[in-house]
Amino acid sequence: MALMITDECINCDVCEPECPNNAISQGEEIYVIDPNLCTECVGHYDEPQCQQVCPVDCIPHDPAHEENKDELMAKYLIISGQA
Ligand code: SF4
Ligand code: SF4
Repeated sequence: MALMITDECINCDVCEPECPNNAISQGEEIYVIDPNLCTECVGHYDEPQCQQVCPVDCIPHDPAHEENKDELMAKYLIISGQA
């Protein structure tokens, strides 16, 4: 399941550089996560790095993008050029 950033985001900028998949970018008003690039950090880390650093805890799972660990790993292999 990809993660998403809610409108509680305070644009503090700390999550963007932590994402190993470059899935986070500045949107029109708040930061946004590209669900095609977010693997929940599967393939890189045990825990979602953005969630670890967000000071206002505004990065939940995105119910619109349900994926299990195997699907997240498959996504990681594709976007990292290993599949
Ligand atoms: S969970 Fe990982 S891959 Fe997904 S947006 Fe956060 S830092 Fe990037
Ligand atoms: S760390 Fe949280 S508050 Fe800061 S920009 Fe990212 S989502 Fe927004």
